[in-house]
Amino acid sequence: MPSPIAHIAAGFAISRMYQIAKPEDQDGIVEDAHHLDFAATGIIVFASMLPDADAILGILFSDFGAYHNQFTHSLFMGLVSAVICSTLLCLLSDRKFMQTLTMILSGYWIHVLLDSMTPGRGVMLLWPWSNNRFQTGWKFFYGVHWSEGWFSLHHLLTLFTEIIFGFFIFFAIRFIDFRMKGRG
Ligand SMILES: [Zn+2]
Repeated sequence: MPSPIAHIAAGFAISRMYQIAKPEDQDGIVEDAHHLDFAATGIIVFASMLPDADAILGILFSDFGAYHNQFTHSLFMGLVSAVICSTLLCLLSDRKFMQTLTMILSGYWIHVLLDSMTPGRGVMLLWPWSNNRFQTGWKFFYGVHWSEGWFSLHHLLTLFTEIIFGFFIFFAIRFIDFRMKGRG
């Protein structure tokens, strides 16, 4: 799995793409797409970290392999989590259900996708229909290697590659923002 740096960067990228593509607020009023919507960004970034909530159990019981990166890293759990979270958010605020559901689902699923692009045992993408693990043939991230403990020199490489990924995301968004502004 990548570290939270890559997951947060990806969640942030999705939230910006979402706001640039659909710059209406809750009342359908078109807002300045270049202005950051903190609530939407917070929801998507939260969703992009949500599958790793199982790491808490791994830390509590000192057994990452048994608890972490299991069924939470599946398309199905993404859908279940998105329905539960968006229902709660819509009950507590005046958010639109489908819009919130889409945001949470895309944040959650991008996490599962990034994990499948990292060296390791892959993700249980199709759970509960299949316990098979899936991963992409090529790896985009170096990732966190839990078997080496919290403090490993290899994790400097993890940090380095993911900070570069974060910068790439940042400048790609700035570029798209700039192009959209140019169009008016
Ligand atoms: Zn994960």
